[in-house]
Amino acid sequence: MWGGRSGGRGYTLRPMSTVTAAKPSPISTVRKGVIQSWSRTLIPTAKEAPSDAESPSHKLLTRGGYIRRVTAGVYDYLPLAWRVLTKISNIVREEMDAAGASELFMPVLVPIEFYAGTKRDEAYGDLLFKLTDRKGMVNALGPTHEETITELTKAGVASYKQLPLNLYQIQTKFRDEARPRAGLLRGREFIMKDAYSFHMGVEGPGGLNEAYDAMYRAYVNIFTRCGLSFTAVEAESGPIGGSASHEFMVNCESGEDTVLTCPASGYAANVEKCEIGPRPSDLHAAPAGDLQEVHTPGLPGIDQVGEFMKVKTRNMLKTIVFRVVEDRQGRGLRWVLATVRGDHDVNEGKVKAASGCTVELAPEKDAHAAGFAIGYVSPRAAKHHHTLLLIDPDACPPAEKPPFWVTGSDRKDHHVKYFNWKRDVGEAMLNDPAKVKVADVRNALAGDPSPRSPGAKLEARRGIEVGHIFKLGTKYSEAMGFSILNEKQERQPVIMGCYGIGVSRVMAACVEMSHDENGIVWPLPIAPYHVVITPMKVEPTSEAMRVACELSGRLAAAGFDVLIDDRDERPGVRFKDADLIGVPIRLTIGDKSLAEQSVEFKLRSDTQGKGEMVKIDSVVSRCLGTA
Ligand code: ATP
Ligand code: MG
Repeated sequence: MWGGRSGGRGYTLRPMSTVTAAKPSPISTVRKGVIQSWSRTLIPTAKEAPSDAESPSHKLLTRGGYIRRVTAGVYDYLPLAWRVLTKISNIVREEMDAAGASELFMPVLVPIEFYAGTKRDEAYGDLLFKLTDRKGMVNALGPTHEETITELTKAGVASYKQLPLNLYQIQTKFRDEARPRAGLLRGREFIMKDAYSFHMGVEGPGGLNEAYDAMYRAYVNIFTRCGLSFTAVEAESGPIGGSASHEFMVNCESGEDTVLTCPASGYAANVEKCEIGPRPSDLHAAPAGDLQEVHTPGLPGIDQVGEFMKVKTRNMLKTIVFRVVEDRQGRGLRWVLATVRGDHDVNEGKVKAASGCTVELAPEKDAHAAGFAIGYVSPRAAKHHHTLLLIDPDACPPAEKPPFWVTGSDRKDHHVKYFNWKRDVGEAMLNDPAKVKVADVRNALAGDPSPRSPGAKLEARRGIEVGHIFKLGTKYSEAMGFSILNEKQERQPVIMGCYGIGVSRVMAACVEMSHDENGIVWPLPIAPYHVVITPMKVEPTSEAMRVACELSGRLAAAGFDVLIDDRDERPGVRFKDADLIGVPIRLTIGDKSLAEQSVEFKLRSDTQGKGEMVKIDSVVSRCLGTA
């Protein structure tokens, strides 16, 4: 901040001390704003967006001089961006502190051994950035810090009396994303707030649920204060079951995630989690014709097979093979097959829930070795030993006339027509609950029956995940041996929760949500500056510049951050740039307005209006009126 410092153009901003303002007090809640001049900071605006930029936030943040690409998924945050990120971070801090969390700061470098117990080096795979130091020790650049914080608390917490505890940091994270995209939305280096809570129990005072609810409320406050339009949605459940995870999604059509909502009940879930209401099924319909095998050579996907066989994908069956990692019910299952209609997608989380197994998509080699003709698997392949077949109700709906199904032929490059459940899988197997189960195993779609309100239909919209809260349970504490004595002097693994916010993604998501054809439209609380003052004449001795300096002092004293556009550029260029960088309030000082002891006041969000004349003495109160 340069209160009274001499600016590069030779004029002097009015020193703060001469401005009527609340007396500075060590516990003052009045924050003075900053005053900066465009010519003395770095805002390299550009007409053109880089050729690789597709999303609005990537284009506008680059064109507005906020960010600059260093390499794929890695960006410089220039002064404007850093101001926004600092404001978001401060909102996050205030709400986290108010919710009883304490800030700390952990290293980016994580010794690879930390992951040995949790096997997360395997789970993350190529997502993990690894480097070897001069002694040959392998380290990872932290993609999140569950292991590091568990090591820390394990060393520092010995008694139940020290719990509950909630610790957080705002830090750079590294993930070698396969497809970094959309600028800051999916980076390989990004800023995250990550919090971790520790408890002896789940219910009651001091328990995980209490902290989870406090974090939920803090997240609602944070995203509301950031000016975002968002929805909290149920996400994939955690290992301790129930509704153990929520994501916070910014409502935005360009988002990567699909959110489903029930307008009648208010239920909202992401597509991975969303349940579908009851749907009827019938596995005993008569065949529509004799089973026929068709040679379908070299067709890469279901759409091409459909085109070749002149059949809609909704009349095809798609069967996905999963390998059982753990059969939680001890039935000795090795494979789970999930069959859905050809135009639907299998949902792995639902397959896990319906089968009672931990599963993974079958590695092609193993599946082939077990006799599955991957790409051509039909439900008949479930006759195979140690296999459970899950059938989505839409893959066997009751119908007036016999349904016509095309499916794989369990033989490379072949499909069958007129598949029939009863005839081709067989009554005996269909009636064996240990072999076949009709269950919701597909992703929900708009128009599906609501799981919460009979008769209502789900609606779909797009969103950007900006936050995720999660009940971890004892996953990390057990894997890393973090157990302490409880009140009864029994050793017990500590129960944990974790809570993330993508701070840099929040900035980009806000731009996705709030922009127009001229540039960014920042909500006031996270705008880099609240006010941009554009004096028509920028000579240090001009009346316009004198008023600009005086006004900026008064505005700063009232808490506004002010940017004075003192560049010797045509007004058109400066107005365009002001719109591009998206400062919420623009004050223009020209001869005409000065003749009326006024400035022209314009809101960035008001694209139609021409601006209004506001008396210089009333500017601060007019600005306060918009805040
Ligand atoms: P995604 O599904 O988008 O890959 P995630 O579920 O893997 O994200 P979490 O591990 O839940 O992410 O991380 C917490 C938060 O960090 C996310 O809610 C998101 O806002 C942010 N985040 C995650 N990955 C990235 C990334 N590559 N770039 C920017 N922000 C990210
Ligand atoms: Mg997440």
